Amino acid sequence: MVTFFNKIYGCQANFADSQGLAKFLVELGCKQVMAEKDADLIIINTCAIREKAEQKLYSYIGRLAELKKDKPHLKIGVIGCVASYKKKEFYEYFECISFVHGAREEISALQGYLAELILNIQTAKSLFLQNPDSKIKYLKQDRRLKKFFDKQATGSDQISISRLNLTEQIKESNTREEEQIKEDDTTESEQISDVRAMINIMTGCNKYCSYCIVPFTRGREISYPMSDILNAVKKDIDRGAKDITLIGQNVNSYIDPQTGARFPELLQKVASLEGDFWVRFISPHPQDMTKDLFQVMANNRPKLTAFLHFPLQSGSDTILKAMNRNYTSAEFLEKIGWIKELMPDAGITTDIIVGFPGETEKDYLATREVMEKVQFDQIYSFIYSKRKFTKAYNMPDDCPQEEKARRLSELQMRQREISLDQNRKNIGKTLKVLVEKELEPGKLLARTEGNARVLITSNNANLVGSFVGVKIESTTVVNMSGTVIVL
Ligand code: SF4
Repeated sequence: MVTFFNKIYGCQANFADSQGLAKFLVELGCKQVMAEKDADLIIINTCAIREKAEQKLYSYIGRLAELKKDKPHLKIGVIGCVASYKKKEFYEYFECISFVHGAREEISALQGYLAELILNIQTAKSLFLQNPDSKIKYLKQDRRLKKFFDKQATGSDQISISRLNLTEQIKESNTREEEQIKEDDTTESEQISDVRAMINIMTGCNKYCSYCIVPFTRGREISYPMSDILNAVKKDIDRGAKDITLIGQNVNSYIDPQTGARFPELLQKVASLEGDFWVRFISPHPQDMTKDLFQVMANNRPKLTAFLHFPLQSGSDTILKAMNRNYTSAEFLEKIGWIKELMPDAGITTDIIVGFPGETEKDYLATREVMEKVQFDQIYSFIYSKRKFTKAYNMPDDCPQEEKARRLSELQMRQREISLDQNRKNIGKTLKVLVEKELEPGKLLARTEGNARVLITSNNANLVGSFVGVKIESTTVVNMSGTVIVL
């Protein structure tokens, strides 16, 4: 049996892409593993948002190259945003890389390629296990997916037929292998039966914020058909998912390519599906946020959760303009007012960039002011990271790095106090939570409708995947803690 490991850098969209690939590989008969050393195939999903993440990626690939020395059939592939614009470099500098697939390329091409690759790995692996000293010479496969596809029959029907045949071959071969070595009896579907599911409803972005590389790596917005999305949600509910996140770079500019339906209609349709589950979405753009969307959420609670990740980026109108965000701080606050009016207990989180080129102390304090007004539950805050291709790359920036670091540290310190205060408000209350996983014996991790983390003291691991009532007894900045009082 071929085993695979997903390494994911970056955002929830990458997580959703990797989760989708994992499902595809499991359907092919592969098994997901939790450590690189146990894998025959490693797929790295890359992030280009910050330079630091890119540097980390290169040293990670370097470490993987070592693994290949003891396992010649190991294949390593790179997908995602960095793969979009550094394909040539990956092939040139990393001999260990077998394939590179950018975020803008067709996922069906990658799937077709993987289906054949899995067969090759399987053959090589069994030969290697029989005779580890033998040299595996036949594992020649085109490193370039395009070249691979030029050799295949074109047309999606033919691709699916060839994939089906491959699936059958892989499964047949797996059966033989299992008969021989009687591996563990963990089924593949159990490996991905996470209670959380991520579903990409669109990709790309038309906004061109001046600091962001995403429109260059993922291309312009493409929304997926609503019927496909509803089917994907149903499938995840059927396999036991209870917390579904709909994902898009600009989730609320979604438009169904077949019917023209907008995001609120999609949410309404998802909420009408049978089952006991929660739905969230990330990330909406403040510019496209309309009151009717909040109304749909409020009308369909708790299936549509009272949770909003609403990226502010800056509270200064000067900086927002330089960022090309297309809203003012007053407009942002007005929209926050709508959600608080319709769902006063909603969990609200945000993204903030500190030290954007030209940010003065006054601009920074304007961001702090918005934070005070909103009282976010959590923030994800970073120092501005310069990215090639973006408009901000050439903007003059006279603010020293130490000053940016001071601003970030002060802002995060204040947010920790706010988060603690927000969590403290729940002490003594009973909250409905979804139990996500067992962290360690006697300790379960759960989440509230507002996406806050709750640690539960319980030895009952069977609660994973259930909605339960928890009485909150104490809290830290990040985790509330309590005991189950309603089963
Ligand atoms: S909205 Fe702005 S920050 Fe978000 S993906 Fe598009 S360009 Fe990037």
